[in-house]
Amino acid sequence: MAEPSEKTRMLSGQVALVTGASRGIGRAIADCLLAEGAEVWYGVRQVTPEMEKEMAASGGGKAFLLPLDVADGDSIEKGLDALLNRSGRIDILVNNAGIVRDGLVVRMKDEEFTEVIVTNLLGAFRLMRKAVKAMMKNRYGRIVSISSISGTTGNAGQANYAASKGGLVALSKSLALEVASRGITVNVVAPGFIETDMTGVLPDRVREKALEHIPVGRFGKAEEIAYAVRYLVSREAGFVTGQTLHVNGGMALV
Ligand code: NAP
Repeated sequence: MAEPSEKTRMLSGQVALVTGASRGIGRAIADCLLAEGAEVWYGVRQVTPEMEKEMAASGGGKAFLLPLDVADGDSIEKGLDALLNRSGRIDILVNNAGIVRDGLVVRMKDEEFTEVIVTNLLGAFRLMRKAVKAMMKNRYGRIVSISSISGTTGNAGQANYAASKGGLVALSKSLALEVASRGITVNVVAPGFIETDMTGVLPDRVREKALEHIPVGRFGKAEEIAYAVRYLVSREAGFVTGQTLHVNGGMALV
């Protein structure tokens, strides 16, 4: 079958930013939006020469690396200013960057709680606040944040993480209502257990236990989260807002 022409690609002419795009789910999302014809800004904490080479080789002039530490308000301001100065607009924001600092509540230090909230929730809030202003001018925008099944069900040992991910859902619902009349949708994708570095470090016994609770009988792939995001950022999803799309192999039916 012939490759789709530039004009027929789903996201041609649109500008997207994906945070935490150096690897894992963020990288898969950014690559997927690029394949759909968007100009994609890969938000990364640290730009490496390898990344620069890769972008130059595969991006077709539409992939850009953006130094962006979501735990740092200045970095967010500078990063988004650089993107807007160069591209003049932002149509799609994907808040993907996230960290875990697992531990039981009784032993969790303030810093372990705060670090996760600042990275996973405050970072997304700051990005949304700035991006949505630019989107309102164009009366169009798509914002998707990557939460987690933990944000809905809770998870022992992940109080900080679950609070940040549940917070993303409530934040997204609230912003969705504030900007619904401006052509901007705000949604969430909540992955279950996905094969990435984040889950790769878990001991075998934890992985085996997790597998017992996934009716589909396997862990998910990063690309499977990207396909869910691809739908929510499409023009066709304009009537879907304030929602959470659970992609978890049936692990939790909510
Ligand atoms: P990962 O493999 O650990 O990758 C995390 C990404 O976030 C990396 O690109 C990392 O950048 C970036 N990041 C971390 N802190 C950052 C900061 N302060 N500023 C900018 N970027 C930062 O994780 P993943 O599995 O792909 O997870 C991606 C998202 O999906 C996260 O929000 C995670 O909570 C969520 N999620 C994952 C799973 C799963 O099973 N994997 C399940 C549910 C939800 P560096 O390369 O610089 O470290």
